[in-house]
Amino acid sequence: MHLSEEGDGADRLRLALFDAGLLLPTGVRGVYGRAGAFEDVVVAFDRLVDRLNKPLRTDVLRFPPMFPRAEYTCMSHVHNFPDLMGSVHSFTGGEREHRELVRKLQDGEDWTTELSPTEVMLLPATCYPLYPTARGDLPAGGRMVDLQSWVFRHEPSDDPTRLQAFRMHELVCLGTPEQALAHRDHWIEAGLELLRSLDLPVEAVVANDPFFGRGGRLSKATQREQALKYELVVPVTSAGKPTAVASSNLHLDAFSKTFEIRTDGGEPAHTSCVGFGLERVAMALFATHGLRPAAWPTAVRTRLDLD
Ligand code: AMP
Ligand code: ZN
Repeated sequence: MHLSEEGDGADRLRLALFDAGLLLPTGVRGVYGRAGAFEDVVVAFDRLVDRLNKPLRTDVLRFPPMFPRAEYTCMSHVHNFPDLMGSVHSFTGGEREHRELVRKLQDGEDWTTELSPTEVMLLPATCYPLYPTARGDLPAGGRMVDLQSWVFRHEPSDDPTRLQAFRMHELVCLGTPEQALAHRDHWIEAGLELLRSLDLPVEAVVANDPFFGRGGRLSKATQREQALKYELVVPVTSAGKPTAVASSNLHLDAFSKTFEIRTDGGEPAHTSCVGFGLERVAMALFATHGLRPAAWPTAVRTRLDLD
């Protein structure tokens, strides 16, 4: 890949990944199949993050990519990111309603009016399911948790790095304000080191989440002012507009207030997380080192244990 600030690098990378058979189009923007060669890179990087965590004595937890609607509505996601959410609906009617559903489908009418919401939402961020399970007092020294899952964000795009369904590998700290801040800061440096060891031209920048609407403008400004979110960015589709391949976030007591998570001293806990976007890291590697992992620099292949 040759990156330039001219032309549409997103289109070029998407088509190159399709042509190389690394991603498979499905007809929906941001929803792609992954070939074995792409998946090998995702898994290799995922394992590398695992290995970094081992010495930190983290709890390893895995949740499915759905999230109880009852917990979801306690959180601010619906206020802050309504346009990104995914709600799971199903059919709960009887035979008469079923006949109507099938008729509407066959007649090209809107059949989704026959569906009703289930008790789950699609998971918007890998760390969300942790907080409701962490209610109560934390152990002395806080808690470190390793999570990995698929997430959904409704942001259809032709940019292959902006997916609707993708995986995040997260490391979350629940503890005192000092512990949460130290974790966030540690992972800015550790993340840079990790990505640089893969020969990726990465840097850390202060960032903000895409808070919705006019009301969201203040939240974006506050998040930046307080430097709560850092992104590790790499040029993937454009040299001028690098892509976030990881983020390190300080939530203060936002989650612990909602779910009553306390330090061992009984104070409101603080939380922070670092999240690696696994598909974005893979795409950064393909964009930087070429579409054939066999031809990548030996040091990168060795670091990823690809041989
Ligand atoms: P965030 O929770 O928005 O900070 O996202 C955590 C990480 O997930 C980001 O640093 C990206 O690497 C990755 N990510 C976020 N949104 C997308 C997306 N639409 N497609 C692929 N990866 C994403
Ligand atoms: Zn998180």
